[in-house]
Amino acid sequence: MGTAAERREELKAVWRQAQSCTNCPQLAAARQTVVFGSGHADADLMFIGEAPGANEDKQGLPFVGQAGRLLDTLLDEIGLERGDVFIANVLKCRPPGNRDPLPQEIDACQDYLFRQIELIEPRVICTLGNFSTKLLRADPTGITRLHGREEVRRIGPRRVRLYPIYHPAAALYTPKMLEVLREDFQRLPGLLALEPPEQPAPEPELVVPEPEIVAEAEVEAEPEPAPQLGLF
Ligand code: URA
Repeated sequence: MGTAAERREELKAVWRQAQSCTNCPQLAAARQTVVFGSGHADADLMFIGEAPGANEDKQGLPFVGQAGRLLDTLLDEIGLERGDVFIANVLKCRPPGNRDPLPQEIDACQDYLFRQIELIEPRVICTLGNFSTKLLRADPTGITRLHGREEVRRIGPRRVRLYPIYHPAAALYTPKMLEVLREDFQRLPGLLALEPPEQPAPEPELVVPEPEIVAEAEVEAEPEPAPQLGLF
């Protein structure tokens, strides 16, 4: 799709476009910032959460509250830091009162996420919780059934290893869930070490046939008008 530098420039263009987005008038009116996402523009690993909360909305960065601190700890435990990965959300604007994203908001915002994935070209996408898992799998199966199981999926033009895990916010107050999240997290280095998924063959370029040029002599001469037509 282009060099890493070209993809990064394009990602910046998408960032600029998102800054003035009004696809969801209610969210656009209430937001302090558009939380586009942050991290390495050519990361092998992407995390995708749900939507910014109050802290994220204030700072313009994803996962900077309590759930974000837990995400940092889990990253640290597998030898990674934020700058190694890219973190984004399904919604780029905070839903008022931290309510769940509405289906029409997900529809209106999803092109930004798909464009981010296309430009960053991650090998592994870790969906955090139900919203991003359902969106990227285009299927309503919930995170309780899917967490910790990777699968190769085509997302946009590329195939990636999709790895759903629990949302860190859900694990904050439930020690059992935190244990499972930690176990699932520990499998990430192994997934990153696998060969990247084989990519689909590039779509054949649309070839527009050249118009056939017929030599003048071959063009059939117009028949001479019948002599009587010239009388009017
Ligand atoms: N929860 C999310 O899903 N995303 C954030 O950025 C913060 C909390």
